[in-house]
Amino acid sequence: MAESVHLNRRGVLFVLSSPSGAGKTTISRMMLEADKDIALSISATTRPPRPGEIDGVHYHFVDTENFKKMAADGEFLEWAHVFGHRYGTPRAPVEDLLAAGKDVLFDIDWQGAQQLYQEAGPDVVRVFVLPPTMEELERRLRSRNTDSDEVIAARMERAANEISHWDGYDYVLINDNVEGCFDEVRAILRAERLKRRRQIGLIGFARDLIRAVPDADKKL
Ligand code: 5GP
Repeated sequence: MAESVHLNRRGVLFVLSSPSGAGKTTISRMMLEADKDIALSISATTRPPRPGEIDGVHYHFVDTENFKKMAADGEFLEWAHVFGHRYGTPRAPVEDLLAAGKDVLFDIDWQGAQQLYQEAGPDVVRVFVLPPTMEELERRLRSRNTDSDEVIAARMERAANEISHWDGYDYVLINDNVEGCFDEVRAILRAERLKRRRQIGLIGFARDLIRAVPDADKKL
């Protein structure tokens, strides 16, 4: 069988947002495991690490002074205040990944999605994951078994706030089944990769196909 033709393409900046508990982290992990052509953007944050979180893997944990300096020096592609802490996307690693031909996955909130879109326009694909019901979201938050009623209530309020920004996204999915939702996310990525404007080698490729037919291009 002939090898499939591989053309260069512009990388996708793939944003996955959702309220916490809607399954975004699981889906991100599944995507990164299933597809070697997409890599995660690791954000910087001023919030303290949670148990089990590793500096440089889950986040770059920095103090507020450092964060402010990075922001002033233009080191972030976007940054925002989220729940009383600062979170930002370091610019250089994203540029390196795109230059290496990778797509980049962003686990950022609606403010980040908006800023990234302002910065990188049509290279950005924004996907929002909704829970099937708020009861189910609360059940998922409680099943983590770590938070008090007050903390759960605060998270539910934040979730409602986050959900109110659903219309700033290109795709909105309902996660009532994680495998199904993962399939949908992969389908979106696959289709976005095939968009004509991302396939930068197409002009020459199509020209060569036409030229292979004697005199065909003269009649076009
Ligand atoms: P957590 O503290 O639970 O890890 O994340 C809290 C929220 O911050 C999540 O909605 C997450 O998507 C968002 N977030 C994480 N990193 C960034 C970032 O670099 N920029 C923005 N705008 N939001 C982020």
